[in-house]
Amino acid sequence: MARSLDTALAEVNAAAPKRSKASDGGIGDAAHATRDSDHNPWIKDASGTGVVRARDFTHDPAGGFDADAFAEHVASLLGKHPALGTGAYVIWDWLIISTARLREGWRPYSGSNGHTKHCHVSVGTSGYDSTQTWGWPPQEKEWFEMATKEELRTVVREEIKKHFDREKARDQREKARDKKRHQKVMALLKGTSVDVAAIEAALTEEEA
Ligand SMILES: [Zn+2]
Repeated sequence: MARSLDTALAEVNAAAPKRSKASDGGIGDAAHATRDSDHNPWIKDASGTGVVRARDFTHDPAGGFDADAFAEHVASLLGKHPALGTGAYVIWDWLIISTARLREGWRPYSGSNGHTKHCHVSVGTSGYDSTQTWGWPPQEKEWFEMATKEELRTVVREEIKKHFDREKARDQREKARDKKRHQKVMALLKGTSVDVAAIEAALTEEEA
């Protein structure tokens, strides 16, 4: 198991000791072994030992682990955390975000498993053994703990930026989800007597 994912797991477990692990996963089972999955030790380290670079974290908001917030947090670390460089990605609730296509934000995920019960994290093909903290759960300093005016100003600026970034991310995810739903509905209508082309045309007109 990539050490970075052990670090992430330890932070997740420390923050929510009683969380459900029903949909957790690390090293692939026999079913995984037949598929092209990062849960298999495809990567070989310097000594030739196989490394698994993926982990699943069960969505259990009541138990103290909100996979939606975690997915958003890990997404914000892509390209910044040493383990989340080239090859890293996050899948959650029919959406995927990757370091390689970070500028596109969250995109619809087209795999057969929508990952609605757990968040899947694949770390990069290098730096995977980094034990640097994942900063989970995100800590927020109270205003009275801040020393100087400048520090307060910086924090306010950061908070405003974070607010807009979060709104943007939420927006992106909603759009991606809508797109996914639309694709699904159209796929279902294909082969029925419904005039799919006419619907598409009407919807395009509406948008214009
Ligand atoms: Zn997975």
